[in-house]
Amino acid sequence: MDAGSAVMSPEIVYLNGEFIAAAAAKISVFDRGFLFGDSVYEVIPYYRGVGFRLAEHLVRLRHSLEAIRIPADLDWPALLDELVARNGGGNLSVYLQVSRGSAGRRTQVYDGSLQPTVFACCTPIRDIYASGADSVQGYRVIVTADLRWHRCDIKATGLLPNILVLQQAKEAGADEALMIRDGLLTEGGSSNLFMVKNGVLYTPKLGSEILGGTTRDLVLTLAREAGIPYQETDLTYEQLLAADEVWISSSTRAVVPVLEVDGQPIADGQKGPLWRRMFELFTHLQHRLMTGE
Ligand code: PLP
Repeated sequence: MDAGSAVMSPEIVYLNGEFIAAAAAKISVFDRGFLFGDSVYEVIPYYRGVGFRLAEHLVRLRHSLEAIRIPADLDWPALLDELVARNGGGNLSVYLQVSRGSAGRRTQVYDGSLQPTVFACCTPIRDIYASGADSVQGYRVIVTADLRWHRCDIKATGLLPNILVLQQAKEAGADEALMIRDGLLTEGGSSNLFMVKNGVLYTPKLGSEILGGTTRDLVLTLAREAGIPYQETDLTYEQLLAADEVWISSSTRAVVPVLEVDGQPIADGQKGPLWRRMFELFTHLQHRLMTGE
């Protein structure tokens, strides 16, 4: 095995009932996911071959499918567990996409006869528990306009606004873009937002302007259990810059400290104490669930 092959994506994917080599997987050019972004998705981490918060991801998948009225009800845990096993288990991020399918021609309206297209694949991820808090690289972020639609609670594949802001961040030398709409911060291009002020944890409240992150939910649960006060509330740019700590959260990254916003350091520009505590709570739970220790 050469050095590059260790980080290559595993080869077996799931497509419409089959586990096949990625190179052999083909869908119609008339698939509505391809033509219109008429599809939803999930990204689910597996550690040591076991899905982390799989049930919570599947609740959100059901919400997304119902919201855009795609009738797909498979045995998702069995399907995803088998995909992971066929790719050797271990630490993998599973991508699952369900599109409305293909009518064999391009037409915007649809009828109930379509067969959804179901696709899943995986990529390797690292185990953050094993690598520890010191190995986590703090983020630099930019803040930019939130140009998305008003159903951001649906995890839809139409990610053009997210792609544009993430690219904008990358070109500015940053790691993530936080978005702002009508004077209020919403979330990151691919993450939820948290800030800490005077020992209280704050995050934007749930609604149609943000995705209900499974990691966001877990962070709040851990905060509650640990007696860390928190509020789900409106947050402004000025509050963000004056925060003691800023974090982002997502399934494959857990919680990441933000050290700089638009070139300005947050507090002393170092990883904060509450982040370290949350990282520890988070990764210990993850480790316990994976190993039973
Ligand atoms: N918000 C957006 C826009 C996302 O794309 C993501 C994840 O990809 C999240 C939030 C975090 O969600 P989760 O914690 O379930 O990964």
